[in-house]
Order: sequence, then structure tokens, then C-alpha cells
Amino acid sequence: MRLIILPGDGIGPEITDATLRVLEAASARFGLGLELRRMEAGRAALEREGTTIPPAVEQAVREADGLILGPMDTYAYAGQGANPSAFFRKAFDLYANIRPARTWPGLRSPTGAEFDLVVVRENTEGFYADRNMEAGNAELLVTPEVVVSLRRITRACCDRIAAAAFRLAARRRRRVTAVHKANVLARGDGMFLESCRREAAAHPGIAYDEVIVDAMAAHLVRHPGRFDVVVTTNMFGDILSDLAIELSGSLGLGGSVNAGERFCMAQAAHGSAPDIAGQGVANPASLILSAGMLLGWLAERRGGGHAFAAAADAIETAVAGAVAAGETTRDLGGRLGTAAMGEAVAGRVAVEA
Ligand code: NAD
Repeated sequence: MRLIILPGDGIGPEITDATLRVLEAASARFGLGLELRRMEAGRAALEREGTTIPPAVEQAVREADGLILGPMDTYAYAGQGANPSAFFRKAFDLYANIRPARTWPGLRSPTGAEFDLVVVRENTEGFYADRNMEAGNAELLVTPEVVVSLRRITRACCDRIAAAAFRLAARRRRRVTAVHKANVLARGDGMFLESCRREAAAHPGIAYDEVIVDAMAAHLVRHPGRFDVVVTTNMFGDILSDLAIELSGSLGLGGSVNAGERFCMAQAAHGSAPDIAGQGVANPASLILSAGMLLGWLAERRGGGHAFAAAADAIETAVAGAVAAGETTRDLGGRLGTAAMGEAVAGRVAVEA
């Protein structure tokens, strides 16, 4: 299978190099026959070609089996070029952003509590002004002193993200928590809850509850272990997943995929970390775990089968092994640089399985 690799900005190239080492090890060990094609998007493409998403890149992604997208420093070049992350999520209808957060053996969580949850975040509408209009942007300057930001919520998108959450919960600990703000966003979050409740009624074997988003922030810190699958709208999911991942030890452990019906994009949950870019200290586990999740998706949805599923498991096991052995970057208390941590994980993938 062919994967397009777009390293992105800031720490992107560093964590991408480490991730490619792990994928090469997985491909060799499990006979995946991965073709890894590296191209440019984001700032590098903007400077070289005047656009953050060159047409040749878009075409290559359309013809590929999957995409690994590095973090993009979109805030720095907002207004000069499209946000590649938003572009691919919208253009490929990657509606489910799956962001696991769990504690790791040998690594103390800042909360002191063990947990293993997944945030299922709606990815194609909500408050994100770059993906909720057919054309244009839903953040409007009414007068020089007045801005109106519109949030789009549609029943179809609520239905499909709720269904995705229950599908995932059926394979985990069978619990779904819907996070909302229906007390003030009565119509939009009310519609979202209707979809969740309909799925709950159709899945009597899956426990279901609802939590208001502000209280959810407190619950996540106080007793994160009570959650399994957390489903929510776009912006709430973006924020709460960063919180949950940081509580697992570091944002650098934030693997995630953006999945649609026919395509999947691996992408770390964090941004381009300009404060540590170029220093070789960023934790590559986030993108490595994301790539592993993509292999798992390819196993099920694109005919990758047992070999891809085994490779996906081996990558998560290898990251856990490296973390437990203290073979980590400094954010996790270790002394390795980005490349060395990548090598440590790749070495484990090559021999463990
Ligand atoms: P950030 O997620 O890049 O960084 C937040 C903090 O976490 C920083 O202190 C950073 O050093 C740390 N961190 C992040 N990833 C790490 C890693 N792998 N290892 C160790 N530490 C890590 O958030 P920010 O600084 O607010 O955003 C920077 C840029 O990234 C902005 O332009 C923003 O728009 C963009 N962004 C992009 C994405 C994406 O491409 N998916 C997501 C979020 C933010």
C-alpha cells in the first residue's frame, strides 16, 4: 500500500523521520510492502510553490491508500495559505477524529489515576470556521469592532459521529459519554444529544451517560478512569483531548487518526511546537502511534488484513516498552533525543511482535 507522508512544520520533520524508521521496521517485519512517498505541504510548500497544498500533493493523496500528516504551524501563516489539516479533513470527509489517551506502565500520570479512554471528536463542522461553509469562512467581521463566529451542527454529522462512538465502544469497555453544552447551546448540542440518545437506545448493552463540557474538564482531572469512549463536537473534542493526553504524561503521547468511510489520515493530536522545533527533543511517539492507528484502519477498511493489524499492535507495544524502559524524550523524563527514541521504538518493532 502507498502512504503519502507530509512532514509539516516546526517539529514535524523531526518526528516524521522517527516515524518513518518505525514504519520501515514494521513493513520489513510483517511484510507489509509499504511504499512511503514523502512530499511537501505547509510552510515548505508555501515558500517553494506559493501554496500550502500543491495540486500534485492533493492528487497524490487522492491516489494513495492513506496519509500521514505532520503538525502544521497554521497560526503563523493564517491568511497566506489554506490550513492543510482542515483541508484534508474537509475534502476527504474525515469526520471522526479518534484521539486515545491512556496511562502507560512505568509512567506516572499527573492525576495519579490510571485511565484508558478515547475522545471521538466530530471533525468536519462545529465552530471551526474553515470547515462549516460550502464556500467562504464562517467568521465574519460585522464592523471593525464586531466579530460573529458561526457554529454549524447538522443532523447527518451528529448521527455519524454518534454511530462511530458506539461502534468503537462495542469493541472496548462498552461505555459512551456524550459531552455537550446543551444548557446554553440548546439547539445545536440538543441535536447532537438526540443522535447520541438514539444510538444509546439501539445499543442497550452499552452504558451511556451525558456530561456538560465544563464539568467534564473537572471530571477528567478528578477521575479519568471512569471514562471509556467520550463523544463530542469539534471544538470541545479538540480541547478535551489535549487535556486527557497531557494527563497521560505528555502531549507527545497523543496519537490520533482522522477517519472517513474511505480514507484515513494519521496526525498527531498536538501542533508544530515552535518552542522546541529544531532542537531534536520532541517526542515522536504521537506521530508513531498515529501511524500505528492508520495501519490498524488499513487492516480493517482497506484489506490490509492480519499483517497490518499485527503491525499496528506491535507499534503500540513497542512504544509502551520504550516508555516503560525510560527510553524516552525529556517530556517523559527520559534523556533521548527524537531520533534516538524513534530508533528505540523501531528496534522493538523489529524484534517484538
Ligand atoms: P502545540 O500543540 O504545538 O504545543 C503545545 C505545547 O506542547 C508546547 O509547549 C510544545 O512544546 C508541547 N509539545 C507539543 N508536541 C510535543 C511533542 N511531540 N513532544 C514534546 N512536547 C510537545 O500548540 P501551540 O504551540 O499552541 O501551537 C503551535 C502551532 O501548531 C500553531 O500554529 C497551531 O495553529 C498549530 N496547531 C496545529 C495542529 C495540527 O496541525 N493538527 C494542532 C494544534 C495546533
